[in-house]
Amino acid sequence: MIANYHTHTPRCNHAEGAERDYIERALEGGFRELGFSDHTPYLFDVPGYYSRFRMRPEQLPDYVETLLALRAEYADRIAIHIGLEAEYYPRLFSRQMDFLRQFPLDYLILGQHALYNETEGFFTPRPTDDKKLLDQYRGQTLEALETGLFSYFAHPDLFFFTGDPKAYDRHVRAICRRARELSIPLEFNLLGFQEQKHYPDPTFWRIAGEEGCPVVLGSDAHDPAAVWNPALIAKAETILSAFGVTPIETVSLHPIR
Ligand SMILES: [Zn+2]
Ligand SMILES: [Zn+2]
Repeated sequence: MIANYHTHTPRCNHAEGAERDYIERALEGGFRELGFSDHTPYLFDVPGYYSRFRMRPEQLPDYVETLLALRAEYADRIAIHIGLEAEYYPRLFSRQMDFLRQFPLDYLILGQHALYNETEGFFTPRPTDDKKLLDQYRGQTLEALETGLFSYFAHPDLFFFTGDPKAYDRHVRAICRRARELSIPLEFNLLGFQEQKHYPDPTFWRIAGEEGCPVVLGSDAHDPAAVWNPALIAKAETILSAFGVTPIETVSLHPIR
């Protein structure tokens, strides 16, 4: 692993450590690129609604300015990219992008933590056997990828489906096939792997292997040490190779302009 594009900062209220410490850890691991992709602020349209797991809109200028300064400081040692992890919420997305385009962002990654527009939605890591919700997850995330705005799909297996395996196979295959056609890498999420969450889901990665998808490892670091965890990376590579997958080392980022 020589690049990681999934790195948080304390602005999301559930990460710790200064940006500089994340960069130093990446240098220790011999990384050539480090991308920050903290949970995006979102412009919701329900008065009083606030999701606590993301920065507030007024924190975005400081996030960008802090990283621009560090990028300049570390320029001869590592490439620093400024991104965000964002959900695709259809009703809000166009206004959301108008807001984000005011900032010099190098990329977005898709992390679909809720369905619909979050405020009326269903949180995707919650177990469910409802095929209609699975269908919605597939439709909504594919619509997101079709926008061309997302450089990769973070923890694509975040949706926790406990129902009919045939339905899961059908929907996951549709996601994988389209992502491959669009050349959008799928992220094998090292945080979920470390914490033994319901993702990475072996069934998902078997299908991704069968469909020949590009796959990238993502640290999803919420603390500096997690940026580079060599033992965990080796374990992830072993599991993926059993499914015929060799992760790609770098991702070509789509700047937001
Ligand atoms: Zn997070
Ligand atoms: Zn994340």
